[in-house]
Amino acid sequence: MKHESYDVVIIGSGPAGMGAAFELSEKAPQKKMVILDKLKYSSGGMRNDCKMNFTYPIGFPNEYWDESQAEEYLDKVSEFLKPTILPKTRIGIYQTRAERLDTKLLEIKQTHLGTDGGLQLIKQLQKELQNRDVELALEEEMLSLDPKLRQIETNKRVISYQTILISPGRQGFRFLQQTLDTLDVSYIDNIVDIGIRVETRIEHYPIVKDYYDPKFHFPDKVRTFCTNSGNAHVVKETYKTAAGLPYNSVNGHAYSVSHGKENGLVNFAMLNTVGLTEPLASGQQFAENLGIQAMLMGGGKPLMQRVGDFRMGSRSKLESFNADLYDFQPSLRGCCPGDISLAMPSRILRSLWKGMKKLDTIVPGILHPSTIMYYPEIKLYANKPTYLNKHFKVADGVYLAGDGAGTSRGITAAWASGIRAAEGMFTEL
Ligand SMILES: Cc1cc2nc3c(=O)[nH]c(=O)nc-3n(C[C@H](O)[C@H](O)[C@H](O)COP(=O)(O)OP(=O)(O)OC[C@H]3O[C@@H](n4cnc5c(N)ncnc54)[C@H](O)[C@@H]3O)c2cc1C
Repeated sequence: MKHESYDVVIIGSGPAGMGAAFELSEKAPQKKMVILDKLKYSSGGMRNDCKMNFTYPIGFPNEYWDESQAEEYLDKVSEFLKPTILPKTRIGIYQTRAERLDTKLLEIKQTHLGTDGGLQLIKQLQKELQNRDVELALEEEMLSLDPKLRQIETNKRVISYQTILISPGRQGFRFLQQTLDTLDVSYIDNIVDIGIRVETRIEHYPIVKDYYDPKFHFPDKVRTFCTNSGNAHVVKETYKTAAGLPYNSVNGHAYSVSHGKENGLVNFAMLNTVGLTEPLASGQQFAENLGIQAMLMGGGKPLMQRVGDFRMGSRSKLESFNADLYDFQPSLRGCCPGDISLAMPSRILRSLWKGMKKLDTIVPGILHPSTIMYYPEIKLYANKPTYLNKHFKVADGVYLAGDGAGTSRGITAAWASGIRAAEGMFTEL
């Protein structure tokens, strides 16, 4: 097998990897650097929707970031990405209504490139890396690590490194756990977000005209997350359990205003954060069990239910999606009409529904009978490894960053954690 040496190796071309690559190529331009990504065209999660948040705490887990630290790194991210912040209007009205219901509407600086705009950004970033002589090795997957020899093995070669950043994103959750086991580094993963994706017509959730991605925080650790509108679509992702069984999670994205005709829909997640503490248990395993349960109920497809049916205590049927009142087609085809309350733990369902009712009081319309609830939407909270320092170092020369490593939960925070890791890596060059 071919053997090559680099000063810096970065695993994953998502925002965490990008943040580190740009920081290191600026600080140490003479060093030989490669970014590996197992996919054919990647820059990770920037390919999806590319809505970027520039205000703490969105995306920044508070175990690793306080406000001043996050703001300092966000300044660096903005300096590099130069976002055009979206305007917001009438926020005070919604905030006052929310406060009366023990709910908070966070005011966040945001930009939205859309899935098409994200692809343009990725092209520019990859070109810029080329100009800086950073090698981008696509379709190359890191398979294993030998920390004593400071080597990794990929599907194509053996690579020696001086320092390495492993930032494989949420999809690399299990791969990271294996790597942490190799390094003998302990971790816990007891937290998970379980929820639904809500889809409705824009006129039933008109707040999106005032605030693109409104972040409501309700009691019982329920929140809205990742709102998309205009040309918005719900999508299905498929993951595998430890035993190799597939399960689905839904998600959402939108195209930019300039990309094709709008479908007039809006979608967002309503998520409930669950922490398993006494006894401490794996959030990932819990989520996987729920994912499998949903697969069983939906014949291998995600479930969907109209709010009108849910309120009547009846399952949705195929007819629920073409009768006159139910006046729009689901943007995610191939889901199973059913009863999400049969598949979801009742504590989670109660908390989510309470949040939905509050939301409908703040923005009247969301509980229109035609609104669709898709289940499940699962966000694994990632592993929380024991880090050796503030630069997310786990062993000599080895650093982790990004969503899979628990240092971020979104594009800008992933980029910021890549920069923070790069500062530590720089000291080892
Ligand atoms: C549908 C969808 C929509 C989203 N929308 C938004 C949004 O609008 N705004 C927002 O802030 N966040 C959004 N997110 C979340 C966002 O994508 C992540 O927070 C962010 O991308 C995390 O960055 P990362 O660098 O940690 O990982 P990723 O972006 O996931 O990148 C990791 C990369 O590592 C590669 N990789 C994994 N394992 C290996 C290996 N063994 N060898 C080589 N390469 C490997 C993967 O192919 C991937 O390209 C969305 C996510 C999804 C799925």
